[in-house]
Amino acid sequence: MSEYVSGRHFLQTPGPTNVPERVLRAMDRNPINHRGPEFGALGLSVIGKLRQVFQTTGIVGLFPSSGTGSWESAIVNTLSPGDQVLISRTGQFSNLWEQMATKMGMDVVALDTDWRRGANPEAIGAVLREDREHRIKAVCVVHSETSTSCMTDVAAVRAAMDAAKHPALLMVDAISSLACADYRHDEWRVDVTIAGSQKGLMVPPGLSFTAMSEKALAAGATATSPRSYWDWAPLVAANKTGFFPYTPAINLLSALNEAIDMLLEEGLPNVFARHQRYAEATRRTVRAWGLELQCEDPSAYNPGVTAIRVPDGHNSDNLRTIILNKFNMSLGNGLGQIEGKVFRIGHMGDLSPLQLMGTLSGVEMGLRLAGIPHKSGGVQAAIEYLTGNG
Ligand SMILES: *Cc1c(COP(=O)(O)O)cnc(C)c1O
Repeated sequence: MSEYVSGRHFLQTPGPTNVPERVLRAMDRNPINHRGPEFGALGLSVIGKLRQVFQTTGIVGLFPSSGTGSWESAIVNTLSPGDQVLISRTGQFSNLWEQMATKMGMDVVALDTDWRRGANPEAIGAVLREDREHRIKAVCVVHSETSTSCMTDVAAVRAAMDAAKHPALLMVDAISSLACADYRHDEWRVDVTIAGSQKGLMVPPGLSFTAMSEKALAAGATATSPRSYWDWAPLVAANKTGFFPYTPAINLLSALNEAIDMLLEEGLPNVFARHQRYAEATRRTVRAWGLELQCEDPSAYNPGVTAIRVPDGHNSDNLRTIILNKFNMSLGNGLGQIEGKVFRIGHMGDLSPLQLMGTLSGVEMGLRLAGIPHKSGGVQAAIEYLTGNG
């Protein structure tokens, strides 16, 4: 049982993230008629703004679903049972995507990693060069592997595919990177980008997004996977009018409209720089504690989440429980094969410098109470960095 702790809960999970007051107010209203004129304007507005965030001029479909739903839509709209799919096993989320592809009848070709770096573009290129008959129909990577806090260099994966002259579709899970890191759907020639509302976009869970290339849409003409709810065709038609084939998550769309306004007012480059600054402050704190980052490759450091290893013989879930009970703060847990070994600090979305400092202080106090060996001075390192004395 947790004791009563006064004040606001600290939601420092890497999704769901904190929802700004402006966004809460925008959704705090009676639903509007989703077949009426007011709705069409809202739909078109949201779709137009989402394009800016994805950096695409193409189609962005919206589903009333969690991000997982858009994974399924990507598979069933472009592939047929028996198709080969190349997946890089970078962490728990790529594993779940792989499991889904297998359940949908795909023939998965997997590339393993040690969960401490992103997908390896050279390894992907090597597999594609071997595939002379072009049996691999899609290459799937997770841009920000939220379970390990490692990024994959999507532009490098694209370059490896081009160098191998391979026609497979490139599918990217950007669920926890969109609006935290620079993401360029068109420039990187990504065929399907998947994202969700509850991470960098600062909206409650319940919306997922799928940006599609012309090539991905064309693949749908011959793909034989059964699809109904997840079918892109009615969504693409609706995209032009702002309406949806079924009842959309009306209030969440109002929330999203407001949230993207906030992002565009701040300026996307500033939003990305803010995330980088908080992430660097967090990593400096972790190093000063003498703890280890799960991500071993500095070029794969994550702007929105930091996964931290606890020393052998200690349990990260015990640490999280103490922090929740004593300080009313939620952190991300270790997933899959790193359960109990890792905890994750979410620093994505709507966060002030003081919220970040409160978060880091809460973790440092938790480390003490949990008896996890660490050096003092971690929070101090963040103060130095954020005040320009780092
Ligand atoms: C959160 C997350 C998911 C799962 O999204 P849901 O909305 O929970 O379905 C998938 N991939 C990544 C990288 C994530 O961070």
